[in-house]
Amino acid sequence: MNSSLFPTYARADVAFERGEGAWLFSANGDRYLDFGSGVAVNSLGYAHPHLVSALRDAAERPWHVSNLYRIPQTERLAQRLTTATFADLAFFANSGAEAVECAIKTARKFHAANGAPERYRLITFEGAFHGRTLATLAAGGNPKYLDGFGPKVEGFDPAPFGDLAAVEALIGPETAGVLLEPIQGEGGVRVFSRSFLKGLRELCDKRGLLLVVDEVQTGVGRTGTFLCVEQAGIAPDIAALAKGLGGGFPIGACLASKEAAKGMTLGAHGSTFGGNPLAAAVGNAVLDVILSPGFMERVGRLSPLLRQRLAELADHHPSVIEAVRGEGLMFGLKTRVANTALVAAARGAGLLTIAAGDNVVRLLPPLIIEEDHIAEAARRLDSACAELERGPKPQPGAI
Ligand SMILES: *Cc1c(COP(=O)(O)O)cnc(C)c1O
Repeated sequence: MNSSLFPTYARADVAFERGEGAWLFSANGDRYLDFGSGVAVNSLGYAHPHLVSALRDAAERPWHVSNLYRIPQTERLAQRLTTATFADLAFFANSGAEAVECAIKTARKFHAANGAPERYRLITFEGAFHGRTLATLAAGGNPKYLDGFGPKVEGFDPAPFGDLAAVEALIGPETAGVLLEPIQGEGGVRVFSRSFLKGLRELCDKRGLLLVVDEVQTGVGRTGTFLCVEQAGIAPDIAALAKGLGGGFPIGACLASKEAAKGMTLGAHGSTFGGNPLAAAVGNAVLDVILSPGFMERVGRLSPLLRQRLAELADHHPSVIEAVRGEGLMFGLKTRVANTALVAAARGAGLLTIAAGDNVVRLLPPLIIEEDHIAEAARRLDSACAELERGPKPQPGAI
């Protein structure tokens, strides 16, 4: 492919020109059922009438107004996010990495404001992904992503996945808090158990640490509750949101309790674009739908149906699928073939999925799907698995 883009992505040779609900249509007329949602972003699918009209209305008014002035849409979005969650305050950014970056800064500044600036370190987890800025890369700790970018930002101490005793052993006089994704997304849909999350909350309380959750992928209804951690019956001190929050429009948010945000005073942080009127209008429109009565409960009801279909697929194709994991509408298929081979075969069968770490294929359908979409996705995955079982296709002209 001849391209003037940085070659940092392995791009499939397909371009989409139209989308409707859970479906995408390529330029040559092929139809794809999208169970990737642009990596958990298009939470309301494509061309959702309410989002389209909110964006059209906002387009007629000033797109951008500096944060040097009041922005009523943004104030409203912050008020709704804090009402829907544990939080009292919100800061808006433009991406997941920036939201996490703000969460890290908020945690560090909390202790500085308490007269303990030496407490700046966060305990993280192996397999984590928090974004691609220098600090969030260091927090994720993936050596492949850090290689060649100079000294790693200091202050992150990774613990083995789900090991509470190891977390406790890592706590020192410089520890500010713990940072984790309640379900590791890029890491391969690895779910921290509810009892682990509860234990972590208790440990943080006992040791005066902040619990910081990266809900960039799991948040905004993806798992059937607004934040995934709600399912463990706990509240964090700080949370990062992004992906699903804009339904396709770039917006991120850092939420915090009033206490945890005590260091984020006048001038402590900023963003030119963060929470501008256009982004806030779309964010509010997304919330109109996600927070409407019954919407997240419906996600919760669809979840076991999708899980059941995937478990059946794993039973029928044990040489392709080893295990099914996930919550809500965020599932991972741990594969016995290369995960990228299953992603390609599924795409060939008209189903879009997303590869993740740990040789996993992620399924992140838009939250607006119906039971028929689940059945259709299962049929397409079934034929993709069957094709992989038949072995590699003969190369053209190889006979
Ligand atoms: C995608 C993701 C990020 C980074 O978001 P960007 O918008 O790409 O910066 C951070 N944390 C988690 C958990 C993510 O899934």
